[in-house]
Amino acid sequence: MSCLYIIPTPIGNLKDITLRALEKLKEVDVILAEDTRTTNHLLKHFEITTKTKAYHQHNEHIVTPKVIQEILESEKGYAIVSDAGTPGISDPGYLLIRECQKHNIQIISLPGPTAFVPALTQSGFPCDRFLFEGFLPHKKGRKKKLETLKEEKRTIILYESPHRILKLLNELNEHLDPNRLVSVSRELTKVYEETLIGTANELSQKFSKQKPKGEFVVVIDALKTN
Ligand code: SAM
Repeated sequence: MSCLYIIPTPIGNLKDITLRALEKLKEVDVILAEDTRTTNHLLKHFEITTKTKAYHQHNEHIVTPKVIQEILESEKGYAIVSDAGTPGISDPGYLLIRECQKHNIQIISLPGPTAFVPALTQSGFPCDRFLFEGFLPHKKGRKKKLETLKEEKRTIILYESPHRILKLLNELNEHLDPNRLVSVSRELTKVYEETLIGTANELSQKFSKQKPKGEFVVVIDALKTN
């Protein structure tokens, strides 16, 4: 039976790749990669010579039918990886997976690195239930989304770029309860990894003193329900 493996890759520290991920990356016929240069760099590090093919948000609608045909004809299956973390989590993957299901292609999803899980667990905020929102819309719908988050009682997780982190913290201060705690994790698994916890206003003041660098996950504390 034809097969697509969803393979998470490290979000910084290369030691976070799993043994099973390495085994499957070696074994498959082709690796579909968000950026072949990034993936080839990773493969080189682990001495894996499997062929890579570009599969990203700018070509997925065009190439998916051809890729489906190739997977159906492949012997050892295909793998999909993104630049970092788990494919499909704020990254391409979803469209291909849905099409594979329609064509009876078996999907095997390997567990592994993703940025929101370590950010959530180290925040100390409730992680028995949470809302993962990924990136907020950049322009249209951003305000409306922030207003709906105000009503959300569960822990909330957001992804943000270094260019917009200050703006986001200021918006959280403005739209959500200003006393609600926020945990900002930066550069997870990397040398300069840090997690800062405070109100959105306190964190905004900290980050405005020094230009924010790296990649960020923002976790917002749950509201107590009595
Ligand atoms: N697929 C990835 C995952 O499983 O987490 C997410 C990809 S998304 C395009 C990139 C965003 O993930 C970044 O803007 C940041 O919010 C978050 N991220 C990825 N790596 C990170 C890291 N090492 N530290 C903190 N956040 C990270």
